[in-house]
Amino acid sequence: MSAQNARIFVAGHRGLAGSAIVRRLQAAGCANLILRTSAELDLRDQAAVERFFAETRPEIVVLAAAKVGGILANDSYPVDFLRDNLQIQTNVIDGSYRHGARKLLFLGSSCIYPKFAPQPMPESCLLTGPLEPTNEWYAVAKIAGIKLCQAYRRQYGFDAVALMPTNLYGPGDNFDLQTSHVLPALLRKFHEAKARGDREVVVWGTGTPRREFLHVDDLADACWYLLNNYQGYEPVNVGTGQDISIGELAALIGEIVGFQGELRFDTSKPDGTPRKLLDVTRLSSLGWQARIELRAGIAATYSWFTANAR
Ligand code: GDP
Repeated sequence: MSAQNARIFVAGHRGLAGSAIVRRLQAAGCANLILRTSAELDLRDQAAVERFFAETRPEIVVLAAAKVGGILANDSYPVDFLRDNLQIQTNVIDGSYRHGARKLLFLGSSCIYPKFAPQPMPESCLLTGPLEPTNEWYAVAKIAGIKLCQAYRRQYGFDAVALMPTNLYGPGDNFDLQTSHVLPALLRKFHEAKARGDREVVVWGTGTPRREFLHVDDLADACWYLLNNYQGYEPVNVGTGQDISIGELAALIGEIVGFQGELRFDTSKPDGTPRKLLDVTRLSSLGWQARIELRAGIAATYSWFTANAR
């Protein structure tokens, strides 16, 4: 049966990834979406999730719900990042399987790989070395999620697929300076600095770490593609195959926003992992690649921010 006609539950449909996935599914003609806000269904609550699956019996589940945040949030709320994510994914994966779903997509993260993994990082480097301490709580939960997908496939033949997206950005992102990731944080900082006429913008860390950024509409397109074309045990990295230093990213965002002043690097703030570039060979060989170029993607996100997020 085609995915268009299936009952599809998108968990986390108000988040950055989940909302983009809903847009992509709707564009593909999926009219039978099941959506719940966190107020309607607390995915950490096992009994509530059990009742929900018994009532709605989705055929396909996209698990895009998670407690997420940038380097500071991760480091400050270790219990939330570890416990909440373990609860959410265990409840949703188990409920999906037991109530007859035929497929599940689990969204992980590129921070699951070791801090000093070879670059770019192939899926095979999972669990080959110590994690980056600033986000190990989140990473350990996501690694458990991958293993849970593999365990359900192995023990019960459940078609649970794990995707590992790189750092995402786009419309609907969190632009809060304390809890957000670097790209939305810098968009806000440059925007506000320009509006106030400041002479400098503060960038955390040394500016030398390198990160890869994927527009969330590309991620959503990859999800739709893999939903229809992949049934494997192995996780699949989802990225662009290109990275950029934080210093270069700050300069690019400054240009897009039109900020004329200087950058100041606050080295009392953590750098995190030195480099985080995914090896996307598996995804390319499955027939998918990213399309949204970084400058265009940031410019579009900046327009969204000025229209919606202030
Ligand atoms: P990470 O990819 O898990 O390390 O998470 P982030 O996106 O939060 O941070 C990426 C890098 O950007 C780190 O080296 C941060 O120190 C750096 N960075 C520079 N300025 C900022 C900022 O204003 N906010 C955040 N979150 N990170 C920043």
